[in-house]
Amino acid sequence: MKAKVAIIGAGISGASIARVLSRYENLEVHLIEKAPDVGWGVSKANTALIHGGYDDDPERYPTRAKLCIKGNRLWHQWVKELEIPHVWNGALIVALKDEDFEELERLLERGHRNGVPEMRIVDKDEVFHLEPNLTRKAIGALWVPIVGQIGPIPAVIAIVENAVANGVKTHLGTEVVGIKIENGEVKGVETNNGFIEADVVINAAGLHADEIAKMAGIDYFEIHPRKGEYWLFDDDVPGPRRVLFPTPTPISKGIVVTTEVSGHLMIGPNAQDLPPKEKENLATTREGLENVWEGAKKLWPQLPPRSKVIRTFAGLRPEPTGGDFIIKAEEEAWGFINVAGIRSPGLTSAPAIAYEVAGIIQRELGINLEKKSKWNPYRREISHFFMMTPEQVNEAIKRNPAYGKIVCRCNNVSEGDILEAIERMKFIGVKTPSVDSVKFRTKATTGTCQGSFCRPKIIQLLAREYSVEPWKVTLKGMGSEVGIGDVKSILRRDA
Ligand SMILES: Cc1cc2nc3c(=O)[nH]c(=O)nc-3n(C[C@H](O)[C@H](O)[C@H](O)COP(=O)(O)OP(=O)(O)OC[C@H]3O[C@@H](n4cnc5c(N)ncnc54)[C@H](O)[C@@H]3O)c2cc1C
Repeated sequence: MKAKVAIIGAGISGASIARVLSRYENLEVHLIEKAPDVGWGVSKANTALIHGGYDDDPERYPTRAKLCIKGNRLWHQWVKELEIPHVWNGALIVALKDEDFEELERLLERGHRNGVPEMRIVDKDEVFHLEPNLTRKAIGALWVPIVGQIGPIPAVIAIVENAVANGVKTHLGTEVVGIKIENGEVKGVETNNGFIEADVVINAAGLHADEIAKMAGIDYFEIHPRKGEYWLFDDDVPGPRRVLFPTPTPISKGIVVTTEVSGHLMIGPNAQDLPPKEKENLATTREGLENVWEGAKKLWPQLPPRSKVIRTFAGLRPEPTGGDFIIKAEEEAWGFINVAGIRSPGLTSAPAIAYEVAGIIQRELGINLEKKSKWNPYRREISHFFMMTPEQVNEAIKRNPAYGKIVCRCNNVSEGDILEAIERMKFIGVKTPSVDSVKFRTKATTGTCQGSFCRPKIIQLLAREYSVEPWKVTLKGMGSEVGIGDVKSILRRDA
């Protein structure tokens, strides 16, 4: 008989766990997410770095230190298997004054203890060879070539698509409201859509993991949000070749200057602790953004004029009591596993976290995991019009004329891309049609005009494919419907 596993939270942690558990014949895996789509929690807004694993102190934060480097190594494999947008461009932790080298030496030594390969301190000449446009005040750096960047939401989507292809069942738009425990053993989860039976419950609920743990009677930790704010620039603004960090402080890795995977210069984040109840406070602040600007200028003085900014945004790190990841089978509730406090470097560590959880299920819960004889590690990336050669465009249009209609002019996203995105949304169980779901799969609406031109057309396509009235399409889930009735401007446009 199969053991039933319920994973709460389809962020990068829950998705990775689902993928790894989908390898086993004797598990029936359910991935439960309260948002209408996957990856809309902490995993949505972050720096998107695959960290090198040199800055987590193995004495203070042993789990982070162990899983970050392991996760980095696994990402090198996962991005290929799952065709996740990525770049391996390395990081420079920049010294601006002589004292900074003491900290860089400490990081180098810590990196060696954590098993980080190929790191070294470079002098002024080499630093400018690696990053020609860095501030002229730089006097050297720690060079970490294994650092990279991924698209975090595309990564969650890719992982979930692969997990579903391998048999995982999703329950999107489903909020866990209780954990059923009988005689000290978990029996399942209560949700707004009914009861889901489970022998194993994995709590990967990000900022809300402490609340879920309390539902199982576990209250030894709390999660408080730590805000980080960012500026994102238009893609014609030149950014650095490498990920640039300042020499870090005790609470933050510092303001990063980077060219993210889609080619936009991005600066941030700062670090501002918020009270535990402010888990939805994603507002940017003038003061925070100005701090980020000033911090970034120290490494990249040629920041462009503010007219080149296309977005500012904020993310919330789920900071746990004690600071380390909490990945643990809880004895008080047999079958309940916490994957909590997954703050930075959680994105990097996620694949390693998933194998850690599989190990806990096998060793500590005594479920002997049997590998499937057939398990598919691969998933194909959506066919982006903007990445096609002219020959591929011709082929695509012959196959489906919708590829010949450009919907998002800023990013060259065709109707064919959008229809494929909608098909993939349905494949993983997205029931609420949202513009954001299309945006995260295709990049439509993320260009210079930020959707002013293409949003109505996307709404029309979503309405048609989901057979709902256009005004019932949402921007980002229930409560953000685009209208309250017959929205004539949408209806009048050509389909
Ligand atoms: C500013 C910032 C910068 C960062 N930079 C980096 C970086 O560069 N590199 C790196 O490695 N890490 C970074 N991180 C950390 C990384 O983003 C997180 O560790 C990671 O995204 C956490 O993923 P998760 O799946 O654990 O949580 P989440 O992505 O939040 O997923 C949890 C999910 O659980 C769902 N959920 C919650 N409650 C319920 C419920 N009751 N029922 C059903 N579902 C529920 C939520 O909706 C959510 O989708 C950064 C974080 C921030 C905020």
